[in-house]
Amino acid sequence: MTLEFETIAAISTPPGEGAIGIVRLSGEQAIEIADRVYKSGSKALAEQKSHTIHYGHIENPKTNETIDEVMVSVMREPRTFTREDVVEINCHGGITSVNQVLQCVLQNGARLAEPGEFTKRAFLNGRIDLSQAEAVMDLIRAKTDRAMHVALKQLDGNLSNLIRNLRLDILDTLAQVEVNIDYPEYDDVEEMTSKLLIEKAKIVKASIQQLLETASQGKILREGLATAIIGRPNVGKSSLLNYLLDEEKAIVTDIAGTTRDVIEEYISVKGVPLKLIDTAGIRETEDIIERIGVERSRQALSDADLVLLVFNQSESLTIEDKALIEATSQHHRIIILNKMDLPNKLDLTELETLVDPESIVKTSILSKSGVDVLEKKIAALFFTGQTGERDATYVSNVRHIALLNDAEEALDEVINGVEAGMPVDLIQIDMTRCWDLLGEITGDSVQDELLTQLFSQFCLGK
Ligand code: GDP
Repeated sequence: MTLEFETIAAISTPPGEGAIGIVRLSGEQAIEIADRVYKSGSKALAEQKSHTIHYGHIENPKTNETIDEVMVSVMREPRTFTREDVVEINCHGGITSVNQVLQCVLQNGARLAEPGEFTKRAFLNGRIDLSQAEAVMDLIRAKTDRAMHVALKQLDGNLSNLIRNLRLDILDTLAQVEVNIDYPEYDDVEEMTSKLLIEKAKIVKASIQQLLETASQGKILREGLATAIIGRPNVGKSSLLNYLLDEEKAIVTDIAGTTRDVIEEYISVKGVPLKLIDTAGIRETEDIIERIGVERSRQALSDADLVLLVFNQSESLTIEDKALIEATSQHHRIIILNKMDLPNKLDLTELETLVDPESIVKTSILSKSGVDVLEKKIAALFFTGQTGERDATYVSNVRHIALLNDAEEALDEVINGVEAGMPVDLIQIDMTRCWDLLGEITGDSVQDELLTQLFSQFCLGK
């Protein structure tokens, strides 16, 4: 059984020109509404089997005007994304025709979906839990394969299962505490119960800590590691940038509402997503004074999680080079000695007194050598090289991290409470709070307001 909702509709494909565009309807009347605008030589959609696709035209019944030639999929509940009846109208791309088809279904009984409303229904109808709904959002925004993999795992229910098991464990303990208190078999029941609570609190706390340890990596996977490539003019910065952009799949994101200037470029280096900072600056200006001096470069440095500092090893270290070493001394950085194909002039011994020798990589971007070592170094900075990481459960969502931190605090209260000899019924309260907080991750205990806010972050049509 699904909850009763109005039938909603939205364009589910990204805005812009495309080969096809999809208008999606979901709700009790989805098929009926589609039939009002769908014309074909054969049966009405209502008479078609579930999970079938049909050729026809969309025609506005009010004007009898044909809008588009379409393929329409009919999917009856419950085997659909929202667990409601779903109709997808595959239109012939082009913004106008998809929009007109949407207008047409809206005029004939559907309501325009709010952002994330399809996913919200999937959640409310019990098809997915909240952390899975959030994973859908992550998938839409995933910048790299690895981020996508993490989101997929979450959609799979990895995190949900972990959290559910922890909650079951806590519930079990709470039940046992109740039994102990209500039917005391032994005289030392209070002591036994406290011991049980503290043991369980410690076990759950360890699991939560383990999850939280993945948080910083999770955040990097999700948001990309802000990376600045810096160095004097002509050392090979843009060559390196272009090499990385060509080799690794570049994903150029145009952030809505901003100009070309702040286009962010993402590359995935051995699975670590790098968000390249200020690449426009690298390309535009050749003047080092301007590059280091201007506020913009300083900003780029202050935003950077990682600095790739490039030197030309066929020239001696200059004052500017040393200034850059100084300016980046507090950053995670990799020193790149480029142009190894040319005769050496840079004094390596001197350089090694200024920077960590371990951070130096020798490359010749021209002859494509050493770049692989560089890529491995970048990856090694953020993944410790343990195998099986691809399948680890990462916590990357800020909301989840905050809840896990709160849950950990509640457990500390339990542990401290027991140690301070507090009465069991007070300790129970903190244990229950922990159970509640974990439930908020999966959405087993969330308020409406939060849901509305969460789902409104989705794009339209999801
Ligand atoms: P940027 O000003 O730091 O961005 O430097 P560019 O990437 O524009 O490179 C400046 C010049 O150095 C160009 O002519 C490149 O072809 C050349 N260059 C880049 N990498 C190498 C390298 O490894 N070896 C040699 N010999 N030349 C290189």
